[in-house]
Amino acid sequence: SYRALVTDRDADGKVTSSVQIIDNTRLPDGDVTVDIDWAGLNYKDGLCLTGGGGLVRNYPHIGGIDFAGTVRNSSDPRYKVDDAVLLTGWRVGETHWGGYAERARVHADWLVPLPHGMSTRDVMIVGTAGLTAMLAIDRLEAGGLTPEAGEVLVTGAAGGVGTIATSLLTRLGYHVTALSGRPQHADALRALGAATVIDRTEFLGQPDKPLESARFAAAIDSVGGRVLSKLLRQVKYGGQVASVGNAGGIELSTNVLPFILRGVSLLGIDSVMQPYATRVKAWRRIALTLDLAAYAGLVREIGLEDLPAAAEHILAGEIKGRVLVRPR
Ligand code: NAP
Repeated sequence: SYRALVTDRDADGKVTSSVQIIDNTRLPDGDVTVDIDWAGLNYKDGLCLTGGGGLVRNYPHIGGIDFAGTVRNSSDPRYKVDDAVLLTGWRVGETHWGGYAERARVHADWLVPLPHGMSTRDVMIVGTAGLTAMLAIDRLEAGGLTPEAGEVLVTGAAGGVGTIATSLLTRLGYHVTALSGRPQHADALRALGAATVIDRTEFLGQPDKPLESARFAAAIDSVGGRVLSKLLRQVKYGGQVASVGNAGGIELSTNVLPFILRGVSLLGIDSVMQPYATRVKAWRRIALTLDLAAYAGLVREIGLEDLPAAAEHILAGEIKGRVLVRPR
């Protein structure tokens, strides 16, 4: 048996979670069983733990959309006992039991071996958030972005995606402008490498025009809503915007002038369904690029029992950097 944070829904539809002991016979279908060292906390985990977004359909459920650990047993030739592995995406933690447990059973196709030089803790500091930041940078560079092109805007900068994007871009030589609603974290963002920090309230406070002064060569946006709508008007000729998240809303109200007069491109980034080869390549680049020592102050560790409160915090936009979950 093993410990897990079990999320359940009562007859009134109220969703709550508690730490319980689960018998091994209840492990879901899969060909690899993993002893989990670390899981992450992501915005989507906040939704799954509180019943938000309709992501979890079947209860009782075990959340946790990313985790890393060691193989306990495997019937798949690609993995053997004691291999270190990580998992992100594939709707694990949403439709399949996830990482908020001492143990998980999953399909071998969903796993990725640890990149060289990173521990299970290191890869969960990065997690789904950091993988997505790397995928966004890869996509922008495939579209021609180089450090010489100019300022790159990162929104939701103090969150998981935002901090890792800021750190990765800085290490790759980009001039990063961080947009944050929390001025108290401006120094931490500058320490990660942000050259400029913009206050979200000031940014949104300026009246909207169909086109505004062209400033950014590119942007990585984890906020959506009004922030994405505003920044699109400020992207330079030929620039690109990677839409990654919706922490500020799913709506997008815009006009076509940035696209037809400045040739701006809006690119969608998804980390959940990426093929294996893309994941391995992105993780290798993360391992070569990220300065984990510089990121140390942005990591907080919690246990399974702390997750319900942490879920409320991430949905309220109150998490700084990355939260690591230690199930054991
Ligand atoms: P997070 O750590 O909570 O970061 C989100 C950040 O957005 C917050 O730290 C906050 O930054 C800002 N924010 C929060 N609420 C806001 C609001 N109401 N209005 C404006 N800004 C707000 O979450 P995360 O795990 O990094 O995820 C960020 C987003 O990316 C989420 O929407 C998530 O679902 C999405 N995501 C998508 C993928 C994908 O595959 N496409 C993968 C991972 C994550 P400041 O306080 O600094 O402004």
